[in-house]
Amino acid sequence: MRADVVLVGEDPASQVYVSSKVKTCANLNMYSEKIVLSAETSQEELLAVVERLNNDERIHGILVQSPPPPQIDEAAIVRAIDPRKDVDGFHPENVAKLALEDSSGFVPCTPAGCMRILKEYGISSIGKEVVVVGRSMIVGKPMALLLVAKGSDATVTIAHSRTADLEAVCRRADIIIAAAGRPEMIKKEFVKPGAVVIDVGINRVEESSKARGYRLTGDVAYEEVFEICEAITPVPGGVGPMTIAMLMKNTLQAARQLTGS
Ligand code: NAP
Repeated sequence: MRADVVLVGEDPASQVYVSSKVKTCANLNMYSEKIVLSAETSQEELLAVVERLNNDERIHGILVQSPPPPQIDEAAIVRAIDPRKDVDGFHPENVAKLALEDSSGFVPCTPAGCMRILKEYGISSIGKEVVVVGRSMIVGKPMALLLVAKGSDATVTIAHSRTADLEAVCRRADIIIAAAGRPEMIKKEFVKPGAVVIDVGINRVEESSKARGYRLTGDVAYEEVFEICEAITPVPGGVGPMTIAMLMKNTLQAARQLTGS
């Protein structure tokens, strides 16, 4: 089984994510290669790399780390990846399969990780009011599709930056999935006592007292929300590691489907 990660440019957060993906592959004895391309790489050069990986039968999973530099048309790169090797689950064919509840597709890793956390802790979403804050194709929208799917059976609201009175919308929720990329924006007042809170956000906040000059924090004001909620995921150490676990799961699924094993 083999997965290759393509990193274009030097975005520091992307470098951290790619390193932990490669490290996890190594821990699982899964062969992986990190292909590092310069920040000046053209669209054609990147498409040529994707094409080479598509045609290499030894490779089962391909991902191009987001965000790429501005000269790259990310949507076109995603469409160029063979959907059978699209372990990120971003190709339109896999998005359609998610909407169709066709399990042969790949589910985006972060929302799949959130679902797994709920399952692991015995938290049912059936009949629950769930508010997903964020409508990106990476987190918010696939998250909502998973929650509303048969078997999950939640009643889902997707909130975004134009939502009127986000606080009141969130306060209705039995489960809040925070994926806005806004440090600690979900305060205690946004959370119904006894609600479950999954914090997807990973934000760097400047802090001069830290050796690296910043601290990582989620979208939820953890300390104050912890006091009133039923359960909450920490940042770091919550959804992030689950995302990588789901990437490994998708790669295993890709290898099985491609080799018929
Ligand atoms: P994104 O593409 O920037 O989308 C953010 C979404 O949040 C948008 O839909 C935006 O609304 C909404 N939003 C922004 N500010 C808001 C506000 N004040 N009130 C309500 N909604 C607001 O980000 P993303 O890729 O989905 O990532 C979201 C967060 O999750 C980031 O912190 C990212 O680092 C983190 N993340 C973590 C993992 C992990 O493994 N744990 C994986 C992926 C992402 P509009 O659409 O109206 O602009």
